[in-house]
Parts: sequence; structure tokens; C-alpha cells
Amino acid sequence: MSSGGASPSDWLLEVNNLACGYNGATVVNNIHFALGHGDIGCLLGPSGCGKSTILRALAGFLPLTAGEVRLQSRAISLPGRTVAPEQRKIGMVFQDYALFPHLTVAGNISFGLRHSSRAQRQRKVAELLDLVHLKDLAQSYPHELSGGQQQRVALARALAPEPTLILLDEPFSNLDADLRRRLSLDVREILKSLGISALLVTHDQQEAFAMCDQIAVLRAGSIQQWDEPYNLYHEPVNRFVAGFIGQGGFIPGKALGPDAIESELGIIRGNRAYKWPAGTQVDVLIRPDDIVFDAESSLKPKVVEKTFAGTSTLYRFKLSNDTEFEALFRSHLDFQLGETVPVRVEADHLIAFERG
Ligand code: ADP
Repeated sequence: MSSGGASPSDWLLEVNNLACGYNGATVVNNIHFALGHGDIGCLLGPSGCGKSTILRALAGFLPLTAGEVRLQSRAISLPGRTVAPEQRKIGMVFQDYALFPHLTVAGNISFGLRHSSRAQRQRKVAELLDLVHLKDLAQSYPHELSGGQQQRVALARALAPEPTLILLDEPFSNLDADLRRRLSLDVREILKSLGISALLVTHDQQEAFAMCDQIAVLRAGSIQQWDEPYNLYHEPVNRFVAGFIGQGGFIPGKALGPDAIESELGIIRGNRAYKWPAGTQVDVLIRPDDIVFDAESSLKPKVVEKTFAGTSTLYRFKLSNDTEFEALFRSHLDFQLGETVPVRVEADHLIAFERG
């Protein structure tokens, strides 16, 4: 399931068939992925699917019941053998920052450098303060900082001991949407500038897409797909990934051949070949950006929902009892509830699954 390009020994982190859980109950199973040097990976999925559990296992807080975790080719977790968290060279950043309230920003960052000389510590702290743009706040205390600033300190603190890998557990969840977006891009830039690998846990796909090179989509304790963001969106391997990633919904159709489907929206063609025989009943994924306004079109669904979002408006259209779909139009195309609107499908992909 790992992406190609690197031979196994080139991976920084390898997770093979990992299983673990709590009190004898398995929570995650058959977890398999690998992360290259300098790559940022992500565990993405709905709440409760097991993302943090995997992170805890990688950090060494939770023993494995099956499989293995390798860091730089060295096995750090096997059933019955768990290298202690502090011996893994793995840094962690948590949702609640977990800063020491009685230590200054500089004190927090140098906390993991107790074994370095004073001069080394000072140099490292100055370097990291510069990197996370907090030079002027070295002597401030955590309660004097905004959430975004506190999370920068937490990142600097995790980076100080020069870990091999950084694990980030929902690091931006306590921040408002705007700051979240900005900070996730900043953190990506910081990690990339240092060439440090990281694994992010989030339920927010915008964040995952903005920050990560590879994403695992999880459902109920297992990885559905481990892939680049582009492929998750354009080539989801199953219905769950297709529905979870991006917006969109399914309409019914009938296969005409390996790359064409007949539906109430007309014949939809794609650039990938499916193996099903002609006549197979399928569900076709329609994304809001697959639908365009076309004054000439004879296809005229009715507006049943309308969500204004500034520069664009998301419409829900109904063509028949079976066929409803969404479309995203620029706001100047303003239609009213109940109005019929001429549209056509303009999709360069065909994502469909056999009807179960
Ligand atoms: P996520 O991070 O995707 O939200 P978690 O890994 O936190 O999910 O939780 C996955 C499952 O494991 C949930 O059903 C949760 O109730 C259970 N779980 C998490 N932590 C513990 C724990 N310490 N003891 C027992 N069950 C737990």
C-alpha cells in the first residue's frame, strides 16, 4: 500500500501490519504504511477511528499486539518489545500545547536540552525562536501568548532535541479556522526547511491537504487508502474514501463500457478503465465542481438547497427522485430555490463503484 519510488531501506518510518488497542480489545488492525525521509504524512479520519491510538503506538506509549514499527530500519516496537518513548528520538506536539506554565518560552524550548552545555542550549533556543518567529517572546510565559504562539513554542520544544520524526496530534484543533490554515502552512514550511519528517493526526481534510505529502484515510481502525492528496481526491479506492474526501455525492448509473456510464445526467466518460461488464449497475461520484452552468443544456434540474459562501454558492439540485447532486457556482450566478437551471456535467474523471 506504500507509494512507490523508494526501496524499503530508504524509508524513515515503516509500519507493518500493526495492531494494538486497550485492555485486550483491538482498536486498530493491519496498519501498514511507510514514510520517506523529509516527508509529512497524515492519519486522517473521523473521530474515534483510531488515529491517536496509532500515534501512541508510534511514540512508544502503547505496546503492539501484532506487527512492527521501524524507524531508520531499527525495530522500535514489536509485540512484547517496546523501546521506551524517550529512547526513540521522536518529538510530539499535542492539541493542548502541554507547555510548562511556570517556564518561560525559552525555558520551555530548552527543556529537552538539559544534557547540553549552556552555550549550546542558548544557541539552539535562539535558532528555534527565529525559526518559529517568536524572537521577541523568549521571556514571556505561556499564559501571555495566543493559542497560535503557544503551538509554535510547542513545535520549537519538540524540535529542540533534533528528533528523527515529529508526531503532531490534532495540533491546530484549538485554533480558529483562519489561524489554523496559516499555521498549518507555516509548520509545513518549518518542517520542510529542516528536512524533518512528521506524521500529523487530524480529522480536518483541508489541514491534511494543505500540510501533508501522503495521507492515510482511516475508518474504524483500518487504513482505507494511503496516497497523495491528489490521488485521494481523483482516484479514491472505495466509496468511503470517495465520500469522505472532498464534497460530492453519488447518482445511479449503468455501465456502457469500461470508461463510460449512462446516467440521468447523460453519458459520463472518464480516463480510467473499469473491469465491469456493460450493463452493470453503478453509483457515480459527482463533485460540485463537475457541474457547470450551460444555457444551451436541455438538462434542467431544480434548486432544492442553496448555501451562499461568499465568492461561490453551493447548490443542491434535484433531477428526479433518484438523482440529486451538488454544484458550486460563482456567486454572480444567482438562482432561487425551486428554479430550474440548465447544467451539464464536465468531469475529467469517472469515479464509480458497483452498486452493492
Ligand atoms: P481518534 O484519534 O481517531 O479520534 P482514538 O485513537 O482516540 O480515535 O480512539 C479509538 C478508539 O479507541 C475509540 O473507540 C476510543 O473509545 C478507544 N480508546 C481510546 N483511548 C482509550 C483508552 N485509553 N482506553 C480504552 N479505550 C480507548
